[in-house]
Amino acid sequence: MSTPPAQPVPEPAVAIGPEITYAECRQCGTLIAGLDGRYSCGVCGWVNHHSEGHRLLPRAEDDTGRAAGEPDNNANRLG
Ligand SMILES: [Zn+2]
Repeated sequence: MSTPPAQPVPEPAVAIGPEITYAECRQCGTLIAGLDGRYSCGVCGWVNHHSEGHRLLPRAEDDTGRAAGEPDNNANRLG
């Protein structure tokens, strides 16, 4: 009998989107969830600086969901 071929080892999941991270609010101590190390406390309103995030923020050019070449100046206006 031959041994079955080894199953390919699944590669570790590559994080594509932002990761949910947790930390204590530095102002009131509440455990809060954030994205990629960026936090906003819903209890006291404290936020950390965006530069403390674990990775760079996407630029407008990285927004591939945007229709290329179409002016979207009024897309998100509220009246
Ligand atoms: Zn807080």
